[in-house]
Amino acid sequence: APAPPPAQHLFSDPAEIEALRGNLLAWYDKCKRDLPWRRLAATEPDADRRAYAVWVSEIMLQQTQVATVIDYYNRWMQKWPTLQALAQASLEEVNELWAGLGYYSRGKRLQEAARKVVSELAGQMPRTAEDLQKLLPGVGRYTAGAIASISYGQATGVVDGNVIRVLCRLRCIGADSSSPAVIERLWDMANALVDRSRPGDFNQALMELGATVCVPKAPLCGECPVKQHCRARRRKLFGKPAPVPDVEDCGVGSCPLCPPAAEPWDSSLGVTNFPRKAAKKQPRAARTATCVLERRGCHGAPEYLIVQRPSSGLLAGLWEFPSLPLAQGLQEEKQREVLADHLRAWTGRPVVAGGLRFIGEVVHIFSHIHQTYVVYSLPLDGDVTLDPALSPSRWVTEKEFHASAVSTAMKKVL
Ligand code: SF4
Repeated sequence: APAPPPAQHLFSDPAEIEALRGNLLAWYDKCKRDLPWRRLAATEPDADRRAYAVWVSEIMLQQTQVATVIDYYNRWMQKWPTLQALAQASLEEVNELWAGLGYYSRGKRLQEAARKVVSELAGQMPRTAEDLQKLLPGVGRYTAGAIASISYGQATGVVDGNVIRVLCRLRCIGADSSSPAVIERLWDMANALVDRSRPGDFNQALMELGATVCVPKAPLCGECPVKQHCRARRRKLFGKPAPVPDVEDCGVGSCPLCPPAAEPWDSSLGVTNFPRKAAKKQPRAARTATCVLERRGCHGAPEYLIVQRPSSGLLAGLWEFPSLPLAQGLQEEKQREVLADHLRAWTGRPVVAGGLRFIGEVVHIFSHIHQTYVVYSLPLDGDVTLDPALSPSRWVTEKEFHASAVSTAMKKVL
């Protein structure tokens, strides 16, 4: 078993833990933001319905700001107020509602999981973090902990980006906060700290603190309800680590939770010395040629051809303009030729490369791909018979385009 971490990185005093819980919960009761899923979780008597609401909000909040999520959450709950309703939805409907929120597999897996609960678990949500994580696709350790603590009152902690930041600052953890060893320590800490009688509120309070007070760049330490427990703040004020009995165990470079010896405490950064992360991998660069095929619709308004992406992989099942990934370093002339070849299949007639009008480039950053769309347009006269053997495709007006399950990148292209 690994040796326990040095005391300066631990919460070991029961009186301090009690005081921290009390201060944090009192602050949360007074200052928490009024959010629709919190309102529902506080007033809904049925635990499974609470769990569904928390689940939907947590999945939407992964990688997305609260302000953006609220509107999507409200529309989602209006359309599918229960798990049973969601289980009957089609993937197309889910993608349409999710359009613009990004990371589309989240919506897809949410719906698959709802179907699983209805068809395999007799409509009963699993009620512990362990079962939620084990049985529901797309539910990881964090989401499982959030649902179990907020909806079912299980005394289990949660660790998300906000909690990582707060805990690393409270206990001066400067080792790479994305490393499995540090993450495991933070889970231990979150599980030890969580309030036994109000676990859901405690977890939300810790996350709320990270979202509104202990923010990444300019934390509001003066207003912080747990500042007297914060070792990063003490270190900022007094210039050295907290005087705990075995602090000498944290010799620079030998402690697994201290900053690496090559990047010691920087006094100009203060508490924002923590947390630290290893440098992120650069996203992969990719180029895709895409063509907006346009025709005059029955009332003279322009219509555009959109085609459906495969049902797995990036942007699964979403609609886009006919597109083709390009090999690196392809000359412009060659790009046109391969795109013209590709379009031939969609239009059912030869497409002359020279007839494609280059419009410009659109850059869109996915989490791991720096994607450049090279955009062309091609007006078509006469009718085009779409080949049913190809992927599903359809002509849409601009209004229909915006109501379809299309990605933000394709909206930029249009
Ligand atoms: Fe974060 Fe400052 Fe509070 Fe410490 S005192 S937890 S650094 S806001």
